[in-house]
Amino acid sequence: MEFQTFNIPNLGTQRPMVIAGPCSAETEEQTLTTARQLAQNGIKIFRAGIWKPRTKPGGFEGIGVEGLQWLRRVKNETGMYVATEVATAKHVYEALKYGIDVLWIGARTTANPFAVQEIADALRGVDIPILIKNPVNPDIELWIGAIERIYNAGLHQLAAVHRGFSSYDKKVYRNQPQWHIPIELHRRLPNLPIFCDPSHIGGKRELIAPLSQQAMDLQFDGLIIESHCAPDNAWSDKAQQLSPEVLDVILRKLVLREMKQTTEDLVDLRREIDSIDNELLELLAKRMRISSEIGTYKKEHGIAVLQTGRYNEILEKRIANGERLGMSREFMRTFLEAIHEESVRVQVELMNK
Ligand code: PEP
Ligand code: MN
Repeated sequence: MEFQTFNIPNLGTQRPMVIAGPCSAETEEQTLTTARQLAQNGIKIFRAGIWKPRTKPGGFEGIGVEGLQWLRRVKNETGMYVATEVATAKHVYEALKYGIDVLWIGARTTANPFAVQEIADALRGVDIPILIKNPVNPDIELWIGAIERIYNAGLHQLAAVHRGFSSYDKKVYRNQPQWHIPIELHRRLPNLPIFCDPSHIGGKRELIAPLSQQAMDLQFDGLIIESHCAPDNAWSDKAQQLSPEVLDVILRKLVLREMKQTTEDLVDLRREIDSIDNELLELLAKRMRISSEIGTYKKEHGIAVLQTGRYNEILEKRIANGERLGMSREFMRTFLEAIHEESVRVQVELMNK
């Protein structure tokens, strides 16, 4: 696939390209107020959801077609380009009718090849930028498949959006970043621009700045960030939206390091390793925390720290599992012993507190 750069004059060539705007268009007033403030701060592409896929029924599911007129007003008054999410052929027709410049396919839609194909068919013959968010599940083939479906319909101004992946554990992130997946996407499709959506990864305001910086350090091309004129009153995703002023401060503070690319492939593979190591560390830390909880329980109930039966069982099962995954017995043993030793040390320390 040979991707084309966005046909958006005045966008400039500087990294990052920034798309900003509220999670949802709620009222004409909220949409226009937010848009004017963003335009004043130099934002060139405005986002707002009109049809909102919500996890549970009963919430605000988007204003619908009415909001498209507001986006058209944003475009006419501020000169910004406007973007919205489409999930069905009908959404595509309506959005095109109102002159929406950029469309994005949401994470839940990317996960469904029928829906993506329906959108691709509705777009045939149109040549506008399309952003394809990663599917909710960490499946890079499904993501690439969606990109191929749109590409095969003749749309070549494409970009991917990394918005993180669903998981049961939402302690830190709303959606796990799993950075190695977009990095692998870049290795597979080197000329496809990639945006990061720190709003939906983080799920909370404080995480937008560090996640955006991380995306810049990983050489992402753009950012799509939720911004609302009164974030605390937003009808959807309020914890993660920023006021246009705060967004401006964050964007100004981003540090853009130009990395020397020696051999492109090696750089990407190293980034994948870095990302996987970070995840390993987070998992290891989580294991240690749980081990401390067990330690506390043992102390309260007078149970000995070292349970030889349990330890042997862990060793045997894990070593066999590791071998099945292509790792040597010796390595598995050294690795597990090191972890177990540290666990025991932590529990003994707790015992003696
Ligand atoms: C959104 O951009 O508001 C949205 C619904 O995103 P996602 O598809 O990433 O959940
Ligand atoms: Mn949102």
